[in-house]
Amino acid sequence: MSAERLRLMAVHAHPDDESSKGAATTAMYAAQGVDVLVVTCTGGERGDVLNTKYGEVAGGVEGMRAVRREEMAAAAAALGIRQHWLGFVDSGLPEGDPLPPLPEGCFALVPLEEASAPLVELMREFRPHVVTTYDPTGGYPHPDHVMCHRVAFEAFAAAGDPDRYVGRGEPWAPLKLYYNHSFSLARFRTLHDAIVAAHGESPFGDWIDSRGAMEIPERPVTTRIPCSEFFAARDDALRAHATQIDPDGFFFAVPRDVELEVWRTEEYELAESRVPTTLPEDDLFAGVRGTELAR
Ligand SMILES: [Zn+2]
Repeated sequence: MSAERLRLMAVHAHPDDESSKGAATTAMYAAQGVDVLVVTCTGGERGDVLNTKYGEVAGGVEGMRAVRREEMAAAAAALGIRQHWLGFVDSGLPEGDPLPPLPEGCFALVPLEEASAPLVELMREFRPHVVTTYDPTGGYPHPDHVMCHRVAFEAFAAAGDPDRYVGRGEPWAPLKLYYNHSFSLARFRTLHDAIVAAHGESPFGDWIDSRGAMEIPERPVTTRIPCSEFFAARDDALRAHATQIDPDGFFFAVPRDVELEVWRTEEYELAESRVPTTLPEDDLFAGVRGTELAR
């Protein structure tokens, strides 16, 4: 029996992001005995009700925060992971031309060091070997997703440095930092083509066109996690976010048999590593597992 206890921290912007980006990966590692902690930067309290079948949430921002806390707890149970709120306030997705200013006090407006301090403290306490988050674009242009990247990157860089964030716990340097790439155009194009081949039409044509029009550069995938056994847990977690996820909507538009045939992995980009590893990888803990670092 080894004393190895691997730890994975997944840093996300809003409740529901953990269920749509890398969810099956976290469920799989948790089932294997890895200690998995999802960190949610904001309460998601400025999210609209996106599921048209849900009805209304009373009580404004406060009411939405309460509902989303309950949804998050159910999603965490479905994935078998632990979850921690950083406590920042959702910035909302600004819409219009010109874009309106962000609301005062929201996550995206907090100065970087102030926003990163609670995550540094949590990293020093939880001591993750591996951290996942979004790439510098946020994956899509929501100000909280961009801020989530900045904060996770800053905490990854600084948590091991005794001269930084003094008074926020004993230094701990996580070993690897990954960006989630489950929303890649390559994945949706492959699914789209397979759905068209199987069913004649696919719901993803417009999404692919609009995503293509955003000109978000495709990032390199270094690491593919074979986690299809946990797609059902991912789906349960998605459904737990009932205000956000329509069970007949976008996230469930891929026939699950088609998905299992053509895309059985979740994708990541290794952004930073303090251990030697060989690319491509199929394990976020490659280079860590089985070494003296894995404790
Ligand atoms: Zn989000």
